[in-house]
Amino acid sequence: MKYDFIVIGGGIVGAATAWQLIQTYPSRSTLLVEKESDFARHQTGRNSGVIHAGVYYAPGSLKAQFCKEGAAATIAFCREHNLPWQQCGKLLIATSALEIERMHALFKRCQQNEIAVELLTRTQLREREPNISGEGAIYVPATGMTDYAAICRKLLQLFVAAGGSVRASTEVKTIVEHANSISIITSRDEELRGDYLISCAGVMADRLARSQGLRADFRIVPFRGEYFRLRDNSALDNVPLDHAALNVSHHIYPIPDPTLPFLGIHLTRMIDGGITIGPNAVLAPGREAYTNARVNWGDMTDMAMFSGFWRLLPQYWQQGARELRNSLFIDAYLREAQKYCPHLTREDLLPHPSGIRAQAVDRTGKLVQDFLFVESTRSLHVCNAPSPAATSAIPIARHIVERISPRFSAV
Ligand SMILES: Cc1cc2nc3c(=O)[nH]c(=O)nc-3n(C[C@H](O)[C@H](O)[C@H](O)COP(=O)(O)OP(=O)(O)OC[C@H]3O[C@@H](n4cnc5c(N)ncnc54)[C@H](O)[C@@H]3O)c2cc1C
Repeated sequence: MKYDFIVIGGGIVGAATAWQLIQTYPSRSTLLVEKESDFARHQTGRNSGVIHAGVYYAPGSLKAQFCKEGAAATIAFCREHNLPWQQCGKLLIATSALEIERMHALFKRCQQNEIAVELLTRTQLREREPNISGEGAIYVPATGMTDYAAICRKLLQLFVAAGGSVRASTEVKTIVEHANSISIITSRDEELRGDYLISCAGVMADRLARSQGLRADFRIVPFRGEYFRLRDNSALDNVPLDHAALNVSHHIYPIPDPTLPFLGIHLTRMIDGGITIGPNAVLAPGREAYTNARVNWGDMTDMAMFSGFWRLLPQYWQQGARELRNSLFIDAYLREAQKYCPHLTREDLLPHPSGIRAQAVDRTGKLVQDFLFVESTRSLHVCNAPSPAATSAIPIARHIVERISPRFSAV
């Protein structure tokens, strides 16, 4: 059978794209393929679950636009399909004179991005969050939380109910573009044909583009984000009063370094009622190396052969060394969070699964900050969908379908 559309990847971007395609083209056939036996196994199921409001992004960038639209679309989707979400708000805490300066710059950016924010003094911060201390803070009421894996599964359920086809446990090994069609060769040694292909393969995105012979002048470099889960002290007896209340009612973030806004260990309220601490960002020894024991020598060699990787290292060696130290030494990790949450102790930190960010790096060693698409006559590859792409997945999918529609009609 030949499909009209083939979508690769059962994460939230692939799922939202498949759902958007079937709504736009209800009479066309669409197939989604996923290499794992279940969906949302990678970035989508291993993130902080934050519905971002769009605080950090350059005004006018796709990231800023999609994030704002995406937060509203995510909440509307959760409301409509009875999925869990909550708008708990976020506090960005400044703990030094440099961070106060950065806080004011960030406050201006929020205003340029038309995000409602409030500046809090040290006392106002203390009133809102008795366990958190800082010199001042930005309060972002629109930030929320949800379960992106649940959203991803619901999108796929709607897609299938509307007539879409899904194949799990099917890894795409190669893509071949012909004059009249495009085919994927899978791990089951079968060839599936379509008119148009959209690849949303996360950490494997560049490999699939290259397997099709497309020029992909960048590599995905895997940065692992390690988390801990906060012990639930409320259930314990005999803990000191301030410790028993080691709870927060907002997401708590540090004021970020503007050049690397995704860095900075934060306290995140999760939709299941828990609180996580993290993530950091350390180079992972493999694209799916969720622990250091899962070294993938093929991935490491691939990374080492890429000149952009060697240009990346000197640019960010200081931040890289700090993140590595925080990964290797739990006390160093803890100190990052103690800057704004001084009561936190080592005993509060319980293990929690890590996630891996699919970060595109170009030949000059620069981290690609915005979304990146690689295209051919019959295909579009989403090659960089960094955070907040879970928040933004619905408008990203809309953008993809609008972008390919004129070309799809022409092929
Ligand atoms: C630690 C961490 C924290 C984050 N926190 C947030 C947050 O709080 N809020 C937010 O908005 N965003 C957050 N993000 C970002 C967000 O999770 C991702 O941007 C988003 O999930 C990307 O979705 P995706 O569908 O592109 O990728 P993925 O979820 O990684 O999905 C890609 C899919 O493609 C499949 N695939 C790959 N290769 C093949 C192949 N050859 N054949 C078939 N299938 C294939 C994979 O198995 C996978 O299921 C975070 C990310 C990380 C890692």
